[in-house]
Amino acid sequence: MKNDTYYMDMAIEEAKKAGQKGEVPIGCVIVAETGEVISAAHNLTISLSDPTAHAEILAIRKASKELNNYRLPGMSLYATIEPCIMCMGAIVHARFSRVVFGACDEKWGGAGSLYNLADDSRLNHSLDVIPSVCADACRTLMQDFFRLRRREQKARKKSALQQDT
Ligand SMILES: [Zn+2]
Repeated sequence: MKNDTYYMDMAIEEAKKAGQKGEVPIGCVIVAETGEVISAAHNLTISLSDPTAHAEILAIRKASKELNNYRLPGMSLYATIEPCIMCMGAIVHARFSRVVFGACDEKWGGAGSLYNLADDSRLNHSLDVIPSVCADACRTLMQDFFRLRRREQKARKKSALQQDT
């Protein structure tokens, strides 16, 4: 059985694919109890013009289709960033057993930061959360992406100003 770092590295590779497409670099991998990787996906909200096209949602859709089952009990979901409240909702619906994530998301996190949908007695399913696996690598990917984007926006603004004069 491979460890959590092994699968998180795969999720990080997915996140990089998103970054290369100009998407916020978040990746996700879904793994069965046997250690078999069932699906992998990265954030595609801009490319698909779909606010729900988060890495986790896309990976859950693929896994469910692959297994021909709308529930995924026993599975672990690896995400480079703490799943948001939408994705945690889907994760609870799908009956995952574990969520493993990299960096926390203070703005949207649904697995402990802002809300904790993984362990809420009002919901009829709870699951284990393992935070901060390869957190630095996941966070750096995001920071580099936004730094580059800000620099590009600044350069664009500057060239637009120069054209005006
Ligand atoms: Zn999400």
